[in-house]
Parts: sequence; C-alpha cells; structure tokens
Amino acid sequence: MNKSISLDSTTDKANHNINQNSRSTLPCPCKSQASFERCCQPLLKGEKPTGSAEALMRSRYSAYCIGDYAYIAHTYSERARIEQNITAEALRESAGTTIWLHLSIVEASQDTVEFKAFSKEKATVYCMHERSYFVKENEQWRYDSGDMLGDSGRLKIKRNDACICENGKKFKHCCERR
Ligand SMILES: [Zn+2]
Ligand SMILES: [Zn+2]
Repeated sequence: MNKSISLDSTTDKANHNINQNSRSTLPCPCKSQASFERCCQPLLKGEKPTGSAEALMRSRYSAYCIGDYAYIAHTYSERARIEQNITAEALRESAGTTIWLHLSIVEASQDTVEFKAFSKEKATVYCMHERSYFVKENEQWRYDSGDMLGDSGRLKIKRNDACICENGKKFKHCCERR
C-alpha cells in the first residue's frame, strides 16, 4: 500500500465505495436522524417525489455527501442547468476533495430554504450559509438559485471547541478526524 496516501483520502475513497444499498440503514447524510432508506435514498433513486423544497434540498446535500453528482445535476431547474451548463462531470470536478460534515437547516418556507452546510477541504473547515430558491417543474421541486450569506467562508474553529455537528463532542474528537 502506498504510505503517502493520507488518512483523509483513504476514508473518502472508502466512503465513495460504499454503495447506496449498504448505506440504507445508516443515519441519513442530511442529518435528519432518520435512516437513509427512510429519508433521502428514495428521492435519489427516483422512487419518491420531492414532496417539498426542503426535502429536495436535503436530498441534494445527501447526494453531495455520497458523490451522486448525476442526481445533483438532474435536480437543478431547467433554466439554471442550461444557463450554467451544469453537468455531473463539472459538479464532480468542482467538488474536488471536499468532505461534507454537517447540514443545519436555519429556516424553510414553501419555495425557500436557508441552510448552513459545513465542509472540510484538507485541514480547513468551511461554512456555506445560503438562502436557496426552488421552483416546481413537472410536479417536482428543483433548485433554481441561491444567495450566499455574509458569514460564509472559512470557519474559525479551535480543536477544543464544540464540534459543528452539534453532537456534544469536541471538534478534535469528531469532524477534525474525518
Ligand atoms: Zn435525508
Ligand atoms: Zn463533528
């Protein structure tokens, strides 16, 4: 085995290699506290309609977590997909080595969801605080656009701080290790 491979990239690879079915009974990546099979998985598989903008937003976050970029591309509005030339390949490329750590929904209305998504790239943690706008196309909610809010960007978190994923652990015992 190549010893120069860092723990992070090994873990990341392992995560991507777990297929969707073996994840079914694990907690949903969107942090709803339901299992994947009872939450976002049926949406990703196209077995269940996206009942609300929030459900779609959560499923897109879960898709980022497991690297299902085809689903993410598919759930943009037609306008956004064409204007921004969105493809699964382009999404995969821009995601790079990002590891998604946590999702926190701040507020959701019928067609708007404000959320904070936390991610890590190498040793740096980022917060993406966005208000997203959704439209309905053919009875399905689709992501149309979003406004990035002021406190987005690099997160200043110390090793002894409470972890961003609100599970009571310290950062150094939790997401810092991911
Ligand atoms: Zn979910
Ligand atoms: Zn954590």
